[in-house]
Amino acid sequence: MTDGMLPERNDFSSRPPAWSREIDIGEEVAAGQVAVRVGERFFTVGTTLKDILQDLKGSDLRAEVGATATRLSVRLSVSQAQQLAAQLLSYLARESGPRRLWRQIQRGFVKIPLVYPTQDWTDRWRGRVLTPFTVAGSVLLLVLSMVVIVSRINTLPVAMGQTLPWTSYLTLWSLFTLTTVVHELGHALVAAHFGIRTRSMGIAIFVLQPAGYADVSNGWLSSSRARLYTALGGFMAQVVPLFIFSLAWAATHQSIFGYYCVTNLGFFAINMIPLLRTDGYWVLVNLLNEPALMQSCLQELHGAVRDPLQFAQRPGRRQLYAVLGLASLMYTVGTYLLGAGYLLSYLPARVQLLAPLVPVTGLLYFAVRWGIRAARSRQRQRPNALGEAV
Ligand SMILES: [Zn+2]
Repeated sequence: MTDGMLPERNDFSSRPPAWSREIDIGEEVAAGQVAVRVGERFFTVGTTLKDILQDLKGSDLRAEVGATATRLSVRLSVSQAQQLAAQLLSYLARESGPRRLWRQIQRGFVKIPLVYPTQDWTDRWRGRVLTPFTVAGSVLLLVLSMVVIVSRINTLPVAMGQTLPWTSYLTLWSLFTLTTVVHELGHALVAAHFGIRTRSMGIAIFVLQPAGYADVSNGWLSSSRARLYTALGGFMAQVVPLFIFSLAWAATHQSIFGYYCVTNLGFFAINMIPLLRTDGYWVLVNLLNEPALMQSCLQELHGAVRDPLQFAQRPGRRQLYAVLGLASLMYTVGTYLLGAGYLLSYLPARVQLLAPLVPVTGLLYFAVRWGIRAARSRQRQRPNALGEAV
């Protein structure tokens, strides 16, 4: 559902990974320079090294130093092969399985990989997914679904002030979870259209909500145009179940189909908000061609708080970034507060009274940490005896 484009390790086993999964060869970015990925690193190499990496990727070797060096020594001297093997291995994620799992739990987003699409699968779809027929078709399906939804939405019992039975919630929740899987398949297929191999697909537990995920971070081996379309690919696929259920709604007048359509559209809309790292954010990143957009936004915001006068003289685009950074912070905090408030409403009144202590303590903690950091960086920038900043 979210974070699909972030480079992330998601294999919790301790066995060394296969090179076929850890190496990907991308496009030629300049004359004789090819974009590659080894482990968590994206960089460019010349054609000789590209051929060596291609050979390693095509082998069924695991990422172990001995076997890798032996394979490399076919083309390189023994010492060169050993050196390169050690270097390539250093690019792999070195975090242990349990540590990685803990970090993912902290981020509220645990990934369980189920399939690792192969290069063959990717090549099979290359150039075949985005055709005039599929693009125009998905726009048409969206328009037709919208017509049904707009014309029938007032007939839903909730719109008339009635509540839903819990079985309907359960059905909707299951359908929604399935929709995220279809959505992620869309990302993977559009990525394959551009020759981008999806690193893994599976189930992500987003706080407590299971959802599909597709790791398309290999998009960094391709153009920003390919990444833009890949980010939109989820919506393209999601329109298919939306259309099927809107047809079912129009034909049977069963309200559960209507609720599904509204849920699907809601997922669509929330995913399009660029303030968290969801699809809308990645669309914006690739439209602006600014890979570290959120960092830039938060940096500008930081600058605005520290020195408002200087900030007033920044270029308009940078000022807009600060606004986006502020909006993102407020959106994130707001989402958490909303979730917390919802949970709180189920707790006894005495516990509810203590609840404000949690955000207050949290804010104090971050304020103190920020203050210590600011003081330290000011100390580092103090001018020396000659009046120069060091
Ligand atoms: Zn998506």
